[in-house]
Amino acid sequence: MPVKLFWLQCGGCGGDTWSLFNAESPDLIEFVDSLDIEMLWHPSISSLKAKDQKEMIDRLGKDDLEIDILCIEGSILCGPSGTGMCDTIFGKPKKELISLLSNKAKFVIAVGTCAAFGGIGGDDFVEATGVQFRKAEKGGLLGKDFITKSGLPVINLPGCPCHCDIIKGTLSAIVEGTGLELREYNTPEKWYGMLVHEGCTRNEYHEYRVEEKKFGEKGCMFFYLGCHGPLAWGPCNKILWNRRSSKTRIGLPCFGCTRPDFPQQYPFFETRNIEGIPIELPEGVSRAHYLAYKSMAAAAAPERLKTRKTEI
Ligand code: SF4
Repeated sequence: MPVKLFWLQCGGCGGDTWSLFNAESPDLIEFVDSLDIEMLWHPSISSLKAKDQKEMIDRLGKDDLEIDILCIEGSILCGPSGTGMCDTIFGKPKKELISLLSNKAKFVIAVGTCAAFGGIGGDDFVEATGVQFRKAEKGGLLGKDFITKSGLPVINLPGCPCHCDIIKGTLSAIVEGTGLELREYNTPEKWYGMLVHEGCTRNEYHEYRVEEKKFGEKGCMFFYLGCHGPLAWGPCNKILWNRRSSKTRIGLPCFGCTRPDFPQQYPFFETRNIEGIPIELPEGVSRAHYLAYKSMAAAAAPERLKTRKTEI
């Protein structure tokens, strides 16, 4: 029996879909074929006419058709005034369809930071929320106690966008039944159990506090340019984009797009600090020890790092 997958796009840019289209070895078509996944619906690749799509949704509602995996992309728009009429499908709020399908599906996956945590929507007219979190607070549309028929909560795959290998890996683990260990914020440990800082090619510069003040240079960007690498969980420097790069590899700071507070309400590309010391220090580091170590490390920085040349 094929595994039935329904992909719903809500309030977002569609970037996670484009990330998935970027998949290679296997590409999306090879991937769904190899796992015998039947795409009941995906807005960018399904060829169903509107009336057939409506009929399929009606059948899902009447238990005439089963659904195994529900993927939701984009934040859930509950506005205005809780009606959900900011985002509708066949005249009804999409949030109602999500609640209906979530209770039928064996697995629900929130793909991307908007679906996981509410993302860019904010608290204004559209009243955006994540599927089971609103920013860092558990709850969201489905409520903090929601679990699917499989016994798992909503599986969150944050990232703006989420890397295609994480989406494929999560779907593979579900279909193959190999299990998914979830960590804080219900993200899979396998991909979110590491910091963006891990695997960054600038780690030696960070170690000796050899810092940049301009984009595109070679050193670390933690102290001045707002790099969130040591503050954000995700594999961006281990699973590279297009198999070759990441933000920090081209000299652009990580801006923490996997974090529940993304987009942060402070400037992206400057490090918030008090007297030159970052307010947020790398995860789990003691402030006093870090400061002592960093001043000694800067004094010990080798000439070859201090006289670095621009990468580009
Ligand atoms: S640039 Fe960012 S991710 Fe890379 S070493 Fe510096 S702080 Fe870590």
